Amino acid sequence: MQLTECRAAALTELSEEERLFRDTVRRFAVEKIRPYAREMDEQGKFRREIIDEFFELGLMGLEVPEELGGQGGSFFQSVLAVETLATVDPSAAVVVDVQNTLVNNALLRWGTEDQKRRYLRRLATDTVGAYALSEAGSGSDAFSLATRAEDRGDHFVLTGQKLWITNAYEAGLFVLFANADPAAGYRGITAFLIERDLPGFRVGKKEDKLGIRASSTCELILDGCRVPRENVLGQVGKGYKVAIETLNEGRIGIGAQMLGLAEGALEHAMAYAKQRKQFGKPIADFQAVQFQLARMATDIEAARLLVYNAARLKDAGAPFLTEAAMAKYFASVMAERVASQAVEIHGGVGFTRDYPVEKLYRDAKIGTIYEGTSNMQLSTIAKQLLD
Ligand SMILES: Cc1cc2nc3c(=O)[nH]c(=O)nc-3n(C[C@H](O)[C@H](O)[C@H](O)COP(=O)(O)OP(=O)(O)OC[C@H]3O[C@@H](n4cnc5c(N)ncnc54)[C@H](O)[C@@H]3O)c2cc1C
Repeated sequence: MQLTECRAAALTELSEEERLFRDTVRRFAVEKIRPYAREMDEQGKFRREIIDEFFELGLMGLEVPEELGGQGGSFFQSVLAVETLATVDPSAAVVVDVQNTLVNNALLRWGTEDQKRRYLRRLATDTVGAYALSEAGSGSDAFSLATRAEDRGDHFVLTGQKLWITNAYEAGLFVLFANADPAAGYRGITAFLIERDLPGFRVGKKEDKLGIRASSTCELILDGCRVPRENVLGQVGKGYKVAIETLNEGRIGIGAQMLGLAEGALEHAMAYAKQRKQFGKPIADFQAVQFQLARMATDIEAARLLVYNAARLKDAGAPFLTEAAMAKYFASVMAERVASQAVEIHGGVGFTRDYPVEKLYRDAKIGTIYEGTSNMQLSTIAKQLLD
């Protein structure tokens, strides 16, 4: 056998299909999202027409089987979509990320055939989903959640409040966690599928945020909300598994969001460095600026390898827990650094709202916070190292 025949593909090598898909998403992002990114950021509101176009393009059901109206694609494809959208608008990326990597994923993995039939088609075609775990008193310590689910036989009655729920303003379906047996601690946690119009359920205050401002983040109020037993996702008391397993995958998506954001920042920094003149020449001619750009590109390539590797491991059915935590941790710290450098390369105008790097700099901050803070990722990595 010739040596070339057993050459492993580079992690960053995309198949023809993946390349075409990425190019389509990129074209859509540039043509249909970029013109509104600044306005949506200022207004703190995502345009419904763009969400409708996400559905039309199939971006909201990437891994949902074709017979249920989805694309029947891979997890890697979801990651590629999130990365590509984030190059233009990280808020758009997180709408698609939560839908695919958390909500659809939880249903695909834990849903009964009936639940899949009832909900996956809607999620792939017209219904935005949200994933509700966090509460005011339980963030990093997610399983100390206080929302209660009282077992009444054929239904549960849910009471409590959720906080920080992405997509909640637009969502029609919520994967929501409550404790059905507080005495059992985390072994009482149960996942529920909550339709927006259930009596006793409502979406509350929307947060006014530093970054990803167009992506909605709201509180949820459950006041004696009656949920039919057939809407338990997975088994009663096994919600902690649903949460852990979906979040393990979800954080690769956040790594992809941060990767795309940094790519966008580098793109703007390079374009500006080539056209801005000081001392009689473009600032890109100064070696110091070239080195700044080179460091940014190297950082991005390192993050891309971590994110793509974690996603490809997941698709291959191989363990990916540590790799996912590393990808999310590294990509989010990297995105902050790269966005900050991009602002600096723009000089004073980089500090104004007239240029897009200011927004990317603000958007980058969330990467080290949601779906597990950097400390939580490091603690996962350290646990795997030392166990
Ligand atoms: C914009 C946005 C969108 C979000 N979207 C969602 C969503 O869709 N669904 C959802 O369920 N949640 C969502 N969240 C919640 C998010 O996941 C939490 O904010 C995050 O997990 C951190 O929890 P916390 O805010 O309570 O911070 P805390 O847990 O209070 O952490 C505060 C600080 O203490 C550190 N810390 C805490 N415990 C430890 C420890 N044991 N060791 C070392 N350091 C520690 C943390 O690293 C952090 O720096 C979102 C949050 C935001 C801001």
